[in-house]
Amino acid sequence: MTQLDLLRDDLRDLEQAHLMRQRRNNALPCAPLAVVDGREMLAFCSNDYLGLAGDPALADALAEGAQRWGAGSGASHLVSGHYDVQHTLEQGLASFIGCERALYFSTGYMANSGVIPALVGRGGAVFADRLNHASLVDGMLLSRAETHRYPHLDLAALERMLQASTARRKLIATDSVFSMDGDVAPLPDLLRLADTYDAWLMVDDAHGFGVLGPNGRGAVAEAGIASWRLILIGTLGKAAGVSGAFVAGQTELVEWLMQKARTYIFTTGAPPALAHALLCSLELILNGDERRTHLEHLIALFRGRLQLKRWQLMPSRTPIQPIRVGDNAEALALARALWDEGLWVPAIRPPTVPVGSARLRISLSAAHTESDVERLASTLNRLEHSL
Ligand SMILES: *Cc1c(COP(=O)(O)O)cnc(C)c1O
Repeated sequence: MTQLDLLRDDLRDLEQAHLMRQRRNNALPCAPLAVVDGREMLAFCSNDYLGLAGDPALADALAEGAQRWGAGSGASHLVSGHYDVQHTLEQGLASFIGCERALYFSTGYMANSGVIPALVGRGGAVFADRLNHASLVDGMLLSRAETHRYPHLDLAALERMLQASTARRKLIATDSVFSMDGDVAPLPDLLRLADTYDAWLMVDDAHGFGVLGPNGRGAVAEAGIASWRLILIGTLGKAAGVSGAFVAGQTELVEWLMQKARTYIFTTGAPPALAHALLCSLELILNGDERRTHLEHLIALFRGRLQLKRWQLMPSRTPIQPIRVGDNAEALALARALWDEGLWVPAIRPPTVPVGSARLRISLSAAHTESDVERLASTLNRLEHSL
């Protein structure tokens, strides 16, 4: 058996477990209407919750940014690849979020995988919700700290772990809105535990930023909490419609992260044109109440219209509306049946979700119309009986 033979076996195993992933090439910009292999599809897949990714105003801002700042940054931020426009963006993000300072990262994956190792290392301890995003999990593993993963939202279990820990440096990490479930972490309770046991509380607001809270300021603003312990991660490729991420918090915290986060330091700075576009996106988010109200209306409409028995619509008040199917093959069959009807909804299988909880991950966007959502709900209702 050569290395290639081993790999071929692994691929065959994936195939047999219905775990092969497949990409589709879209011929149109990000929007509910997609064209795949020449066929028009109505998509419920993106994290473009406010419909900004394809917004012409944002595309204009990006083009203008490229005219003004060129294509690339030329170096890492700490060498010479940091620009006025990125500094302005960081200030804008910090004031929008209500934190002292923010640090702009190229991606959310890099922010999460860089922040945790910068704050806790060997001898430290990280406490993490078992359903946290993979980038938080990877950050935790990279840190070489002790890892304690508590059952989803189980604060009693978390408290027992915190109580038992003798580590000096401690960090609790959680998604705000869980990306495959759509439910929201009890942030005030988590902060209370962090206070009691003197831990950092790192909140990954990838799916709350732009969507939840006053003016879309996110899940932390919605919860009405503030503390120097809070490490806020926002991503800029979802509701913000562009790409990138930021860490926001107390001044010394952010200064330390800039000094120590390896995923900030050892990578070329993102193109400054993106920051120019993101300043526009921040304005659109701030003035986006109409989009958010429409989105909330669509969520209520979808949940009201759906009548499922065999499959389970999971409890969620966010634009992430998963339908739990259970079996991998059945989830795939359902996604395929929807596809045949012109509806594009991804089936999510392990390892993205726990074994036995394969699901459809429907995500709604302010760019959808009422009739888009009604069409999806009625098709699902019909398929439950015919599939
Ligand atoms: C998407 C996502 C990330 C990663 O952000 P990117 O900017 O896409 O790298 C991190 N955390 C959560 C919860 C996410 O959903």
